[in-house]
Amino acid sequence: MRLDKLLAEAGFGTRSQVKRLIRKGHVTVNGEVVKDPAYQVDPERDEVLVDGEPAIYERDYYLILNKPEGYVTSTKDRELTVMELVSDIPRFEKLFPVGRLDKDAEGLLLMTTDGELAHRLTHPKWKVPKTYEVVVEGRLSEEEIEPLRKGVELKEFKAQPAVVEILEVGEEESRARITIKEGKYHQVKRMFAAIGHPVKALKRVKFGSLELGELPPGEYRHLTDEEVDRLR
Ligand code: URA
Repeated sequence: MRLDKLLAEAGFGTRSQVKRLIRKGHVTVNGEVVKDPAYQVDPERDEVLVDGEPAIYERDYYLILNKPEGYVTSTKDRELTVMELVSDIPRFEKLFPVGRLDKDAEGLLLMTTDGELAHRLTHPKWKVPKTYEVVVEGRLSEEEIEPLRKGVELKEFKAQPAVVEILEVGEEESRARITIKEGKYHQVKRMFAAIGHPVKALKRVKFGSLELGELPPGEYRHLTDEEVDRLR
């Protein structure tokens, strides 16, 4: 990134104020005075000082992980957590998951260091749609999924109407896709259990405008700037 951008982001003034600092020779990069505001620096690696004071710009990270089964969605746990899968990222311990997937669930998990965005995306007010593909026990029929579309009654609350599509029907099990805008504990499992078809496998394939696509299980990818903008 440009040196003047880094200094402005690190709180040393406006873009024109930091340009002046640079031109006047107040700034060193790895020990050398640099007077060109457009000079390219790597915020993770280069040491930038303003009159000897470190300019620290910690960029936010935004990534999607394809969480495999068996990992707990938490930053700390006695069991294996999703943090293991992102531990090669600088300052990975500052990342945290946005929302959660059950230990036995897999699929799209957004992770970020941007607390403000995470808070907003998980707030019920914003109703971020989440799409899951599920394998359920037994033969699923259109009549049976109707209550899910209308808003099925669960123990402590009534679920909001969901968008549901049957993908495959077999003797032993069926596959379906469901989109909900809520995110209560075990919600999808409870919704299918309520219509007599317990969930055997659950995979999140979409979160808001983000799609899992072909990302292999256990891998992550950084979001593009465009994808981050769409989340805002
Ligand atoms: N609904 C569930 O039941 N489990 C999840 O992990 C996510 C949604």
